[in-house]
Order: sequence, then structure tokens, then C-alpha cells
Amino acid sequence: MPDIAANLAAVNKRIAAACDRAGRAPDEVQLMAVGKKFTADIIAEAADAGLTLFGENRIQEARVKIPECPGHLRWHFIGHLQTNKCRDAVELFSMIHAVDSVHLAAELNKRCDAAAKVMPVLLEVNVSGEGTKHGFAPKAAVEAIGAFDDFPQLELHGLMTMAPFTRAPESTRPHFAKLAEVRTACEDALGAPLPELSMGMSSDFEIAIEEGATLIRLGTSLFGPRAAAGKD
Ligand SMILES: *Cc1c(COP(=O)(O)O)cnc(C)c1O
Repeated sequence: MPDIAANLAAVNKRIAAACDRAGRAPDEVQLMAVGKKFTADIIAEAADAGLTLFGENRIQEARVKIPECPGHLRWHFIGHLQTNKCRDAVELFSMIHAVDSVHLAAELNKRCDAAAKVMPVLLEVNVSGEGTKHGFAPKAAVEAIGAFDDFPQLELHGLMTMAPFTRAPESTRPHFAKLAEVRTACEDALGAPLPELSMGMSSDFEIAIEEGATLIRLGTSLFGPRAAAGKD
């Protein structure tokens, strides 16, 4: 069993220090625990330690696990969503972080309409331009904003990105700064604020906070390493 309470205390200190460096209040940054590949028992430990917001990146895993977890937890979907899984996503989650096409948004809107739900969503932006990553190119994200006029069941709350994996966290800074820049352009296109920037993982969350993250998504630094089998 990982000592989640101790890990959380250490993480909270690092969040507070990063906020301090950036002149931000710690309550401007929400901590999401990414418990993918960990069992409901471990999630319950994390809940006991005080965590309330959890992220999952696979619908199949979430469908089994979420009903086994404490009922007061909030769940966000952070993975690549396939259109044929939108119905489950709408049922299980209270925010979808990685809307990466207008086609997906249209399908989500349809499923939310059928379920009489309004879903907060973030647009995933591929700021690094890596071919292996999902997400809108920065310019395409700005252009996609107008399409959301047709999706009354979706509430745009902001943007999400994943920085390239690196052993040198400092090298992620320009990517996070870029997401903040794209956010401003999207706000201009929308004519309304987009408060959320979902960016920063275990290896780079302090840099993300310094660049304006409002939601950081931490797995390894809370739960320890995941089993190597399978893809994240
Ligand atoms: C797994 C995952 C995380 C957490 O990764 P860690 O490096 O373990 O903190 C964050 N965001 C997304 C989208 C993920 O899939």
C-alpha cells in the first residue's frame, strides 16, 4: 500500500511553494488524483487522506471502478474519448478534459441532451505539435470555439494539455506558457472567460502552476508507480 497521506502532504507543500513563487493563492489550484490502474481500495485510501477529485483515462476501467468507490468523490475523464463511449462518459463523469475534435463535441452534446445533462468540458490542445498526441493545434482550437454555439449541453470551461515527457521539467515551461496564450485567444473568440487550465502531471506540475495551471493531474506522486503492463 502506498502511503498516500504522506505523499499528499509532500505534494501539498510543493504546490504551496510553487504558488508562492508565482504569487498565486494555493486555492487557485485544484489537485486531481489520477488513480488509473489502482483499485477501488487504494482510491478509498486516497479519499480517506482527503482527496475528493479523481481522474480516469479509460472508460472500461472507470465503469467497473467508480461504482466501487466512495460515493462523495468527483470524477473527471482525462483520456482520449471515442465517440462510441460518450454515453458512458456522460453518465460517469462531471467533466470531460480532452475534447479533441468538433465531431466528438457534437456526439457528447447529443448524449448529454439525451441524458438531460449539461457537461463542463475542456478542449485538449496539442501545444507541442508532437504527432503522437491528440488535441487541437493551437490555431484550430481558436477556430473550433464558434462551433460550440451549436452545443448547448456543453459548457466550455477552459483548455487542457499534456507536455512532452521529459526528465528536465524546465523544458515543459514554454508548452504551458503556450497553453495560457491559446486560452487568451480562445477567450477572445468566445467573448467570455475560460477559467480552467488543466496542465501539469507528477513530473512537471510545479512548472505548470508557475505558468497558470488551475487543475493539476497527479498519479505517480500520490500513488507511486503504476504497473508497467499496458498503455497509460
Ligand atoms: C496518467 C495521466 C496523468 C498522471 O500522470 P502522472 O505522471 O502519474 O502524474 C495525468 N494526466 C493524464 C491525461 C494522464 O493520462
